[in-house]
Amino acid sequence: MHTYVIIVAGGSGERMGTLIPKQFLDLVGKPLLHYSITAFRRAFPDIRVILVVPSAHLPRGQELARNPAYNGQVEVVTGGATRFDSVKNGLKYVGKDSIVFVHDGVRCLLSPDLILRCYNKAILEGNAIPVLTATDSIRISSEEGNIPIDRSLVHLVQTPQTFQSELLLNAFKQEYHPSFTDEAIVVEKTGVRIHLIEGELSNIKITRPIDMIIAAELLRNADISPDESK
Ligand code: C5P
Repeated sequence: MHTYVIIVAGGSGERMGTLIPKQFLDLVGKPLLHYSITAFRRAFPDIRVILVVPSAHLPRGQELARNPAYNGQVEVVTGGATRFDSVKNGLKYVGKDSIVFVHDGVRCLLSPDLILRCYNKAILEGNAIPVLTATDSIRISSEEGNIPIDRSLVHLVQTPQTFQSELLLNAFKQEYHPSFTDEAIVVEKTGVRIHLIEGELSNIKITRPIDMIIAAELLRNADISPDESK
């Protein structure tokens, strides 16, 4: 089965407080996005990578995609106003009868093992969404105040959100709704049941400056193959 990954990096990353969007920042000598691309290429050497970047940073994305280690397998696409629009732009490059991963570009520490587990589950069940179960106590706020809830029922959703292509292509024919904060919500809206699998603690979403420090430390301990880390 053919594989595609839409790496969404079309946001402005304002919470990081840097001039360059966080997805292009240097992390232990390489742009952050390089590690995301490399993880997918290690799991599936023939995967087609669709990299969605902000239109203002298209040249930066194109330069990154020219890395000879990628063998010309990275297509660069401009993002839209919302994550939904960015994914929709990426889906124009996806072929039928395939498995499609949608991955936050800034979750650059995911392992090829997680990618393979998502693939296997999506082949069997149609989709696979990696999650972590909350370990902190959780409270939710309402007009009456705040109340504790059973944390074992709370799942923190990660990416790559993985789908058989037909489910995703069909779901993205819908009109945008502000509740569409990830692809699982969009697909679920078409009546499809979502299947959760165990995510990874190290698969953090680099959002704030402290995340860069944590990511750098994790990367120094990671097994990045020498040829792909060039
Ligand atoms: O801001 P949020 O955490 O929802 O962003 C998740 C991912 O979606 C990020 O990788 C971001 O770059 C991407 N995104 C996008 N296009 C947008 C907004 C966010 O590709 N318009």
